[in-house]
Amino acid sequence: MPELPEVETIRRGLERTIVGKKIADVTVRLPKIVSMGPKVVSNIRNNDKAKAQEFREMLRGCRIISIKRRAKMLIMELVRNLTPSPSPISERGVRHAADRVRSRMLLLVHLKMTGQLVFAKKGEKKNMKILNLPNARREVLPHKYTHVIFIFFDGSRLYYNDMRQFGYLRLVQDEDLKNVRELAEYGPEPRELTMEYLGAKAKRRPKFSIKLFLMDPRVVAGIGNIYSDEILYWAGVRPARTLRSLHRPEFLAIFQAIPKVLNAAVKAQGSSVGDFFKVDGTEGRYGRAHMVYGRYGQRCKKCGTLIKSVKLGGRTGSFCPKCQQ
Ligand SMILES: [Zn+2]
Repeated sequence: MPELPEVETIRRGLERTIVGKKIADVTVRLPKIVSMGPKVVSNIRNNDKAKAQEFREMLRGCRIISIKRRAKMLIMELVRNLTPSPSPISERGVRHAADRVRSRMLLLVHLKMTGQLVFAKKGEKKNMKILNLPNARREVLPHKYTHVIFIFFDGSRLYYNDMRQFGYLRLVQDEDLKNVRELAEYGPEPRELTMEYLGAKAKRRPKFSIKLFLMDPRVVAGIGNIYSDEILYWAGVRPARTLRSLHRPEFLAIFQAIPKVLNAAVKAQGSSVGDFFKVDGTEGRYGRAHMVYGRYGQRCKKCGTLIKSVKLGGRTGSFCPKCQQ
């Protein structure tokens, strides 16, 4: 599942490729992926073709003006220029100067487990691996997991692929953003964290493990299985430690490791484990820097001890029994 560094890498890739482009058409091949309105996805996640058609009509002619990110959610800002014809004439016969009405919408994209956004220039054949595994087969986009295709006026395209189909594209009006439940529930971005805030949150759940605490999106946004493991490695703390067992220097080390690990991962353009690919279809480099995540049974790069794993609430944490206490 993409975490903050992967989603931020995609955001930057989209900023370079699709901002400023105008949507000529949208093909929705799997209607359940798209929805409209502020309601929770589960209520409106269906394969209604009329809904997909409405989604398409609303997006045609829109220009993408910015791409933002909140936690693991991408927020594409769209503007449609409506030119009423003929130009309105007032009762006194004076033409209104404001003959163009601007309407702003937001397209929320959550990649969930296996969502991908891949850009292709006009006429470019994007040939990419279905999964990021050494022996995975390559296919030209669109392939059978491509569910939505944006076609821009300049002939370029943006493909939304999703093998497991948990991701979504939801169109909302600007004023509805405050009603989007997922956005309201997210904790602060890692760069906004303070020791005081984390300490206060930790006091409420003394028996909770530090790994699951870091992975809770209501505590801090965007940290999942990969980066909680790596943060705890660099902090020298084992994933199963309870919050109340942590001494202040350990808690401080964790607090400091959060930006250290996430910034390095953003710089390396994310970890290509599972299905993560960048917008250009290539892989991120942070996977090579992993110290513990995905390295169970291998030797610690620092001390040579075998990496162990521990089950925590259905998740698996990996750690070095020597480097982490
Ligand atoms: Zn070690």
